[in-house]
Amino acid sequence: MHFVRSTRRFLEAAAGLLYPPHCAVCEAPLGSREIAVCRSCRRAFVRLTGSRCAVCSQPYSGALLTPFRCMNCDDRELFFDFATAAYRSRGAVRGVIHRFKYHRQFHLRHLLARMLAEGFRDPRCLEAGIDAIVPVPLHPARFREREFNQAEVLGRLAGARMNVPVEDCLVRRRYTLTQTHFHREERFDNLRDAFEMKAGRKIAGRRVAIVDDVLTTGSTADACARTLREAGASAVIVITVARG
Ligand SMILES: [Zn+2]
Ligand SMILES: [Zn+2]
Repeated sequence: MHFVRSTRRFLEAAAGLLYPPHCAVCEAPLGSREIAVCRSCRRAFVRLTGSRCAVCSQPYSGALLTPFRCMNCDDRELFFDFATAAYRSRGAVRGVIHRFKYHRQFHLRHLLARMLAEGFRDPRCLEAGIDAIVPVPLHPARFREREFNQAEVLGRLAGARMNVPVEDCLVRRRYTLTQTHFHREERFDNLRDAFEMKAGRKIAGRRVAIVDDVLTTGSTADACARTLREAGASAVIVITVARG
């Protein structure tokens, strides 16, 4: 594993000499202080601001004077306290996540980890006092196929930036079918019991942040939250790079 990692680092460095860094979105040459994406593409990143659901952060168009729960959260018992992110999974943000996850542009991990860490600045996270980061695990078969777990890579880098330990304590025991074929309710049912605690790991009394790249319906994060709650976690928050 160490060999693989140092070889990868060497190849990245070699590629940097052959191809001076270019913006991962528009391909313009990067300035010395720009990381992976140029300043003008960075400015086009859509932030998650304004009115949103107090639980799942689903944006709501219109002014809200009181905390609001969207229809999806209002009729469901959820196991996480709330989910938050600094960005929307739209346009360039979505493209950067996609390149990292499916096209092996590993150098984008640094930018994405910074974006994930921005999600931790939500005042509710500071108030909760998160003391552990738990990445959403991949099923071992999918891990073999992809060779890395995006949530773990980003969680470790963001944790190192913020000095929050990573507890890789969950395991995915069911190989769930691709979720896109399912309707919303089916997604929640399909994932029930998909995760369990790794043997010997303890999370009781900890205030944890489940991390992943994107939150869409929240069904995956909710199934993880349920397992962590049952293991005694005292607070469970979900923080992603972007909200779908
Ligand atoms: Zn650009
Ligand atoms: Zn909601």
